[in-house]
Amino acid sequence: MAFEGLTERLQNAMTNLRRKGKVSESDLRQTMREIRLALLEADVNFTVVKDFVKTVRERALGAKVLEGLNPAQQIVKIVDEELTKTMGETAVPLNQSDKIPTIIMMAGLQGAGKTTTVGKLALKLKNEQNARPMMIAADIYRPAAIEQLQQVGSQIDVPVFQLGTDVDPVEIVRQGLAQAKENHNDYVFIDTAGRLQIDEQLMEELANIKALAHPDEILLVIDAMTGQNAVNTAQGFDDKLDVTGVVLTKLDGDTRGGAALSIRAVTGKPIKFVGQGEKMTDLDVFHPDRMANRILGMGDMMTLIEKAQQQFDEKQAEEMNMKIQENSFDFNDFIDQLDQVEKMGSMEDIMKMIPGMANNPAMKNMNMDPKDMGHVRAIIYSMTAQERVDPDLLNPSRRRRIAAGSGRPIHEVNRMIKQFNQTKKMMNQMSKGNFAGMEGLMGG
Ligand code: GDP
Repeated sequence: MAFEGLTERLQNAMTNLRRKGKVSESDLRQTMREIRLALLEADVNFTVVKDFVKTVRERALGAKVLEGLNPAQQIVKIVDEELTKTMGETAVPLNQSDKIPTIIMMAGLQGAGKTTTVGKLALKLKNEQNARPMMIAADIYRPAAIEQLQQVGSQIDVPVFQLGTDVDPVEIVRQGLAQAKENHNDYVFIDTAGRLQIDEQLMEELANIKALAHPDEILLVIDAMTGQNAVNTAQGFDDKLDVTGVVLTKLDGDTRGGAALSIRAVTGKPIKFVGQGEKMTDLDVFHPDRMANRILGMGDMMTLIEKAQQQFDEKQAEEMNMKIQENSFDFNDFIDQLDQVEKMGSMEDIMKMIPGMANNPAMKNMNMDPKDMGHVRAIIYSMTAQERVDPDLLNPSRRRRIAAGSGRPIHEVNRMIKQFNQTKKMMNQMSKGNFAGMEGLMGG
């Protein structure tokens, strides 16, 4: 999960500040020092850190924040706004051609995630716009690259144009575009070759493809886990190709987050998407404001809600709501919910999008091993159909039978049933607008 250390350190800096009723100039200086160290430790570009700290300090002093009400809160707000600005202010959508097809050329080092990202983006366009994309395999140096793109294509049911490894990439792209026009594809993705490092020959090939294809979008795919190198690579590609946007991949594995915070400020190019996992659905639009909230541990409710909306259709949500209100939520619904939640991503990542949860001590105690989810399922599957719809039936002898059937210890069965009942009660209360019940869950 991205930004772990940064979030914790920034929150500590803010908590220290909040403890002081009045904030002196020297308190502010101390806080800015802590923020500076936190950002540098997160591998944020040095110049970006310097500018950031300077701006926050000037704003805090200029607005006479220290003399006003709630200085700590005001400073948090300034930090939040400046983090957002550093990352580009607002989400920047994919460029769109007024003619079809819209041509999207991908570039990036080998292993950055180009092929995976092409697939994720094509799927996103299919799902969200009913688009009919096509993908061109223009990496002729690794035979496996074509095969990999074909695998991705068949997984998401998107056609791949390829001419093997003996034809010049520029010619492949020329013929591929002709085919896309003939087939009325509305988007064409060009998956180009990568190298381990930027080299002249690769840049020339990419420049030639660009000259022929006149892409509407040149997306630079950058591996977030490479930190400062990611920023240098981005700069290198941009100097040669003048890219139109960046996709930052592997943000799920990047615990520091420096690239996300530096790339826009250093290259001036917007991060348009972030990859947060290996699955084809693990690609999100990059929203600087939401990301800033997440970095500050204030959660990202918007993304959470959108993810939920993608998974649940309205009718399902309505039915679920009715059941909760009538207090007739049962173990079958519970399994349905587990399925839905698992589709949304890891439980831990979901929890972190809830405001205040990123650094909540309860998070550390919460055991969210996927194995445990499997155990919960095993226990529920060992119940009879009747028990699932009527959890009140679960007396001690039935519980012993379920424990034996599922191969789980009796105390685990008891704990699961207790948690189910608590969750049910809490949801029922929340549906009536009473959020006090939440505390029970958080403390659990
Ligand atoms: P390419 O050489 O640039 O085409 O890179 P690939 O698309 O082959 O990706 C290289 C590896 O990174 C593959 O194992 C992908 O599954 C993985 N990968 C790509 N994007 C992400 C991401 O957002 N998160 C994670 N965890 N892995 C990713």
